[in-house]
Amino acid sequence: MPALLKNLSRKLGMMPFGFHGGVEVDQRKLTASMAIEDCALSPVLILPMKQHIGEACTPLVHVGDYVKRGQKIARAEGYVAAPVHASASGKVVKIEEHRIAHPSGMGLPCIFIEPDGDDASETLEPWEDWAERDPGELRERIRMCGLVGLGGAVFPTFIKLVRDQRHAVETVILNGIECEPYLTTDHRLMLEHADEIVAGLAIIRHMVGAREAVIAIEDNKPDAVETMRRAVVAAGLEDVRVTVMPTRYPQGSEKQLIQAITGREVPAGKLPVHIGVLCQNVGTAQAVFHAVRHGRPLTERVVTVSGEAVPRPGNLRIPFGTPVRFVLAGRGLEDLNDIHIIHGGPMMGERLRNIDVPVVKATNGLLAVPEPQMSSMQSSEQPCIRCGHCSEVCPVMLVPNLLADHCRNDEFTRAEQYQLFDCIECGCCSYVCPSTIPLVHYFRYGKGQLAQIRRSEAFAEESRLRSEAREQRLEREKQAKAARRSRVRKTHAPAEPSDNNATGKEES
Ligand code: SF4
Ligand code: SF4
Repeated sequence: MPALLKNLSRKLGMMPFGFHGGVEVDQRKLTASMAIEDCALSPVLILPMKQHIGEACTPLVHVGDYVKRGQKIARAEGYVAAPVHASASGKVVKIEEHRIAHPSGMGLPCIFIEPDGDDASETLEPWEDWAERDPGELRERIRMCGLVGLGGAVFPTFIKLVRDQRHAVETVILNGIECEPYLTTDHRLMLEHADEIVAGLAIIRHMVGAREAVIAIEDNKPDAVETMRRAVVAAGLEDVRVTVMPTRYPQGSEKQLIQAITGREVPAGKLPVHIGVLCQNVGTAQAVFHAVRHGRPLTERVVTVSGEAVPRPGNLRIPFGTPVRFVLAGRGLEDLNDIHIIHGGPMMGERLRNIDVPVVKATNGLLAVPEPQMSSMQSSEQPCIRCGHCSEVCPVMLVPNLLADHCRNDEFTRAEQYQLFDCIECGCCSYVCPSTIPLVHYFRYGKGQLAQIRRSEAFAEESRLRSEAREQRLEREKQAKAARRSRVRKTHAPAEPSDNNATGKEES
């Protein structure tokens, strides 16, 4: 793109670049005009020990303990982890395994709290003077408050907020795209809490030392664009650009967004920071503001509860641990016959087989769609006709039909060679496939199997090393024993007749 055109589009706050592929989807934003409401408090909150990417946490409380909202109840284990905090005051009544929202239907250890309704809370010291504080100190605060990326990735936030001499962050991009149909969480946050989001952006920028900051919003949210622009000016941050992007799925996906805004591609296997970019969701920026400015740990989030089967859809602020069944009942949906419940958006979300799972840090949407509507979207799989539509729309330029063949035939190494792990699971390929092949399901299956194979290989390698170490230890012990025996033999052996010859004397 000629520099003149690029500068002009920047001045006008328009997207200067694009990304490959993508699809136009029916947006169905039923809740766009509905203000955020507080969800009622469930009689029981179920808090899983892993709501982030990384190691599971270890409980710090016991059955019978009284806890306050915001109190740390589980400790992060390892570097890539985020602690868990109580989302209401009350009593710990159980610590046991419970199902979570995961395609495998797996369970995890969970802390069960019966709220007492008093809403007693525990916060850290508020930091009005954050601008004078060291970025490392702010980073530790964000780690302690259990923040994770609220756009759906749930990667611990503190890890990305670092000043690294080797990879300096030049540009911070705040992601307000929300391109999944139905979801309106970020849209409402921008309309109702623009000042907090902008303040969070200022903190993030201070922490990483970025000279440039961009807020990206799709052109189907003109009210949010206007509100964010006003908030930026009100905060005296006129150098922050609010950029309008065309509505195209998956515009909000991190690598696609970076490419669309900066024109730079994040190389395969690399992170945005390797090209000097940091991307954060608008909800995460608001959580950063609350953690730093008010000392408030992450205990709740805004969730879009929508879909044609929900009698009263809305955008709800929900304490973590609230069972999905309770949330849906509160919106008038109790009879779940012939209803599909989706955790997340319809493109990247997962169908829930069990709705007693809790709302967690990753829950940005809960959708209820009538069975006939889903059936029309998911008619039975037909053979691939090699039309190539899936490749045309793939934003990472993969060949989805070939990849799916390899996954289907359990040729996982071949699938890996065809860059299976570059797939962002956006679902564009499945969406356009005329043979309604559930391509993404094959990719998730392939990734899951490969992860399992890698775990088994790592386990086998660990066992081999352990066994070798044991053999070496036994050998060392054997040698040490032999040496000891030899020393003992020498010590207790009968004294040798003295060799007078040695002294040169002769016997008389
Ligand atoms: S879009 Fe579907 S039918 Fe066409 S090549 Fe891809 S997998 Fe095959
Ligand atoms: S192969 Fe992966 S990244 Fe490409 S369109 Fe399909 S789901 Fe999206």
